[in-house]
Amino acid sequence: MTVAFTTEPVEPTPADERARVMAGAPFGEVFTDHMVTVRWTAERGWHDARLRAHGPLALSPAAQVFHYGQEIFEGMKAYRTASGPVVTFRPYANAERFAASAARMAMPELPAEVFVSALETLVAADREWVPAEEGHSLYLRPFMIATQPTLGFYRPAQEYLFVVIAAPAGAYFAGRPMTVWLETEYTRAAPGGTGTAKCGGNYAGTLVAQQRAAERGCDQVVWLRDGHVDEMGTSNLFFVHGDEVVTPPLNDTILAGITRDSVLTLAADLGYRVAERPVSVAAWRADAERGRLTEVFSSGTSSMITPVGHVRGADGGFTVGDGEAGPVTTRLRAELLGIQTGTRPDRHGWVHKIV
Ligand SMILES: *Cc1c(COP(=O)(O)O)cnc(C)c1O
Repeated sequence: MTVAFTTEPVEPTPADERARVMAGAPFGEVFTDHMVTVRWTAERGWHDARLRAHGPLALSPAAQVFHYGQEIFEGMKAYRTASGPVVTFRPYANAERFAASAARMAMPELPAEVFVSALETLVAADREWVPAEEGHSLYLRPFMIATQPTLGFYRPAQEYLFVVIAAPAGAYFAGRPMTVWLETEYTRAAPGGTGTAKCGGNYAGTLVAQQRAAERGCDQVVWLRDGHVDEMGTSNLFFVHGDEVVTPPLNDTILAGITRDSVLTLAADLGYRVAERPVSVAAWRADAERGRLTEVFSSGTSSMITPVGHVRGADGGFTVGDGEAGPVTTRLRAELLGIQTGTRPDRHGWVHKIV
């Protein structure tokens, strides 16, 4: 399926004004000039693809998304490469995950070509909004909502809206390794639930735990299952023992990160031993205390690769390595960023040129 986007006239933000708002933008609060929308109805399927001004959506207050939470999203970035072109990273992997999330939430599948051409259309129109500074990017947020106006809850909605919006993003690097909280009271996802789908409800349910972790001086929550590590709120976790890089195997309560998958491949490319095996909290603590565990880091689109220095939980805390960013974390981060921004070879065809 190919789509032609109807282009509505949009007055672009003047260059000096754009530079000013981009410079001071707190992440996710400043948006580009455009957005893309595509509608779906049971009768017509996907239709009415538009490139239009970023702005409020007109929806019935009875739209199903407001009541029953039928919503899915993706998160990805466009980068300005060293040589000039603007690229995205593995967009077909995001398209595939978006389709899997849709299937889990009984929503219509958006063809991958439409997903990718929506991104291309938006980024091409807003290319001046892609920052040039190293490590900066244009964050892209594709999402789909159930728009059918009905409070009846007897079948999936018969109308949906797919939208892509974009926000300039600075270099996400806290400057210091994270402190994380081992969560033993709440769960993010349950067996048979929606943990493998990127759906809004999964995140709403974790805010309380995130708030409590912040009160305890922690940056992020680590979600556990039967005493084993699943992942964090918006990123996956890796454990480094010398030259071995380990992450828990995917299960039905872990979101399959595209960064996770890329790190597994890159770590093997760089000559590390790579393993997917369960990591218990008991082993995490014991290995850290014995010095066998040298580094821990998280992987995700928004925060890239970020070191974990300190761990706290109901049974007290411990430190990973010397509490600082380790050499494997730093090397993998540089390698991934280098591929995304065109300063390292793209051996796996991950980089997708837009303009
Ligand atoms: C998005 C997300 C990730 C990371 O996925 P990436 O594709 O690497 O960005 C990990 N865990 C959860 C719960 C997420 O929502």
